[in-house]
Amino acid sequence: MPLRQSAGAAILELEELTMLDLSGKVALITGASRGIGASTAIRLAQAGAAMVLSARSADPLRSLVSRIEGAGGRAVAVPCDVTAYADVERAVGAAVKTFGRLDILVNNAGLIEPIARLADSEPAAWSHVIDVNVKGVYHGLRAAIPVMVAQGGGVVVNISSGAATSALEGWSQYCSSKAAVLMLTRCADKEYRGAGLRLVGLSPGTVATDMQVAIKASGLNPVSQLDPSAHIPAEWAAEAIAWLCTEAGAPYAGTDFSLKTEEGRRLVGLVPTVAA
Ligand code: NAP
Repeated sequence: MPLRQSAGAAILELEELTMLDLSGKVALITGASRGIGASTAIRLAQAGAAMVLSARSADPLRSLVSRIEGAGGRAVAVPCDVTAYADVERAVGAAVKTFGRLDILVNNAGLIEPIARLADSEPAAWSHVIDVNVKGVYHGLRAAIPVMVAQGGGVVVNISSGAATSALEGWSQYCSSKAAVLMLTRCADKEYRGAGLRLVGLSPGTVATDMQVAIKASGLNPVSQLDPSAHIPAEWAAEAIAWLCTEAGAPYAGTDFSLKTEEGRRLVGLVPTVAA
């Protein structure tokens, strides 16, 4: 049975949505203003975590804070550009100052544009993708790890991609950056597993966000040819991230957990149900 978000025969439901318990935890998400990050902010708050929401755009973060607080949760917005270490350090500091600790970091901020073959690429724009996708993740790790080590534990979920291990035309900056993120996950796991930290990646498959709109517009490589119905909703990626933050995620430390496979989706609780 195809696992896809479609109005056709197969409908996927989140099983036991309220069963993930992150109460008492404090989580920081980068790139929380839209897409996977915004859905993850809502899901982790539903599971009981206090949230620190960061991205460059302040207005959507404030709206999310209102939504979470309106539902009885706790959240603060800390506008932040992940390419600036001082910004990321400030966001980690805000978690500690506001909520007393930092248990979860979701290194989610990322971009793919501009999509172009190497000879057509613009050097500054190519480098900017590396700054956000690679250095942004490094900045998160660098700022959060000392806090988590001092606490005796914590979870970091780095948002990876199938592009970490597959070459695609026009995506040299993105594939290179996600390969680097996978290696950051592996190195950080090697260095800090013994200190009680769980460092894990998530490869979500294609997700229906603004990023896929940009990919489709590029017309380059097979991903741009996918029908939008092939993409999973951001809520599924959020469910996987929340699940990886629980003890269920422990066996996947130091790896990219894949949500592209039926097995991965079943583990997370995304269960296919045939509509009547
Ligand atoms: P999206 O909807 O375009 O959201 C990207 C987020 O990153 C936004 O919140 C954006 O916020 C933030 N961001 C961009 N540059 C930033 C910067 N310099 N500093 C701080 N935040 C920044 O994309 P998405 O699909 O949700 O992507 C989220 C993550 O999933 C990315 O790491 C992406 O590579 C990964 N991913 C996506 C897919 C997919 O199919 N969509 C597949 C695999 C992996 P501001 O613009 O407000 O700063």
